[in-house]
Amino acid sequence: MAPGETSEAALLEAEFAAWQGARYCLACTSGGSALHIALRAAGVGPGDIVLANAFTLAPVPGAIHNAGATPLFVEIGADWLIDLDDLAAKAGTAGAKALLLSHMRGHVADMEQVTAICDRHGLVLIEDCAHTMGARWNGRRSGNFGRVACFSSQTYKHLNAGEGGLLTTDDPEIAARAILYSGSYMLYGRHGAAPPEAVFEAVRLDVPNFSNRMDNMRAALIRLQLPSLEDNIRRWNVLYAAFERAFRAIPALVLPARPQGEAYVGSSIQFHVDPALIPALPAVIADCAALGVDLKWFGADAPVAFTSRYDSWRYVASRQHLPRTLEALSTTCDLRLPLTFVPDDAATVAAVLAHAVRRHLGTG
Ligand SMILES: *Cc1c(COP(=O)(O)O)cnc(C)c1O
Repeated sequence: MAPGETSEAALLEAEFAAWQGARYCLACTSGGSALHIALRAAGVGPGDIVLANAFTLAPVPGAIHNAGATPLFVEIGADWLIDLDDLAAKAGTAGAKALLLSHMRGHVADMEQVTAICDRHGLVLIEDCAHTMGARWNGRRSGNFGRVACFSSQTYKHLNAGEGGLLTTDDPEIAARAILYSGSYMLYGRHGAAPPEAVFEAVRLDVPNFSNRMDNMRAALIRLQLPSLEDNIRRWNVLYAAFERAFRAIPALVLPARPQGEAYVGSSIQFHVDPALIPALPAVIADCAALGVDLKWFGADAPVAFTSRYDSWRYVASRQHLPRTLEALSTTCDLRLPLTFVPDDAATVAAVLAHAVRRHLGTG
């Protein structure tokens, strides 16, 4: 930077902190690196146990592993939300330090109950908001319930810079440690939404440098998109409403009602299929793909693309069996709703899906 110039990354940190309503923000290389840094900055380390909802994406157990900790997975229900009874049962596990909660596919659990369980058991709550940037629970933004929140700017997320991650927190010490972990050297004063220098003085020689900084190129790409985010959220929700209506009209599909307190961003849509359709689902998906509809299924035995399931992460030492999660995922299908779609596309996609389902269910 030239003297007096502020970097794109620093400007992004200030602008995203303001948008999110958080005091501090760190821009880093990926959502996964933000999660790893968040865990470390929140005090998670080797030997610790981190609770995580079992319906999540590979970067989540990866970040826990990277911190030297072990994930303990918590069941989900048919609504794809974390099972609060199983969470309460596992929260008291010896060595459990944190709950890393993924608001997976944009589904937001009852956050008052989640935070109450965490508080009761002294668990640090870290929110993975990769799918909920802009979503709310009872009016409060997703990401502002836990001690730290992480966001991704990977291609499929609500801000797209190809790759990238954002970490937000109101805790000055966590913010300082996160910035040092990301590899600020002793230039932490250049960050755009950082705590005062005195907070760094206390920890700056105790925190290793992981070199996970965001570059200014990506920060510039994200800054261009941030002013359109609220409008894009409205566009996603118009699309979601159209697809929800069209899919509800297909008899073999079930779309559970979403909770009252949830204001979601409908950038993807999930539904259950009639269990009788499970054996035929690979053929249904192939038929849809042949007509250009890119459906994902979370019930397959082997992971495909982004649909890996908790039981495919074999490096996790504690082998768990989560029957409720497996049952919920066995019938779960998923479709992205990119903003290149228009609401009228819902009828076309639903016609393709209904045709494939009819063919393989053998009904009229
Ligand atoms: C995308 C994503 C992340 C972070 O992924 P990166 O590719 O590392 O940015 C984390 N959790 C979920 C649920 C995601 O979808």
